[in-house]
Amino acid sequence: MEFVLASHNRKKLAELRDILSMLSISVQPLPEHAPEPVEDGESFEENALIKARAACRLTGKPALADDSGLCVDALGGAPGVYSARYCAGTDTDRTQFLLRNMETVPDGQRTARFVSAVACVFPDGTEFTVRGACDGVIARTMLGAGGFGYDPVFYVPEYDCTFGELPQEVKNQISHRARALGACREKLAERLSAAHHD
Ligand code: IMP
Repeated sequence: MEFVLASHNRKKLAELRDILSMLSISVQPLPEHAPEPVEDGESFEENALIKARAACRLTGKPALADDSGLCVDALGGAPGVYSARYCAGTDTDRTQFLLRNMETVPDGQRTARFVSAVACVFPDGTEFTVRGACDGVIARTMLGAGGFGYDPVFYVPEYDCTFGELPQEVKNQISHRARALGACREKLAERLSAAHHD
């Protein structure tokens, strides 16, 4: 079965292909000039569905999309679905903005989680979403040059380092996205085996 990934991000495509490789599924990128839908959902799941539905409509193929972000408990879940646009500028600007907003938050109350929702939409109108999360703590300074986004301040107690310091292959095993994609793989495997028995 051929799927389309509702993203132009090559890294996401590679990660997805890797995780879905044991299913008989191939994942193709969106056509170059596909318009980007407005992600105005109020949850990660809604935004993932908006992207996957648009890609399915455009291509006529089953579509996968993910939407993710960082939820900080002391900030009432912010930046959440607004993670990519928390403030203008670069990933580093947004990470420093987060650190400034958390200057007065004491150690012990700096818990946070990365969340990823993956949506899968089929041309027959059926669809599902799954969610993965990874718990951590917001550090006081940026540490490590790996990853992207808020990785340098996302401290993972089990590994005693930030996502920015973790080797990419370790992050890819424990990340919110890996967990959501793992759950997606299980759902797809069930669907494929049910179709096989029909
Ligand atoms: P998107 O779902 O790829 O649009 O990601 C939304 C935003 O959430 C990104 O721009 C980052 O700011 C943040 N984010 C999502 N996943 C990660 C991650 O694995 N590391 C760091 N930041 C992330």
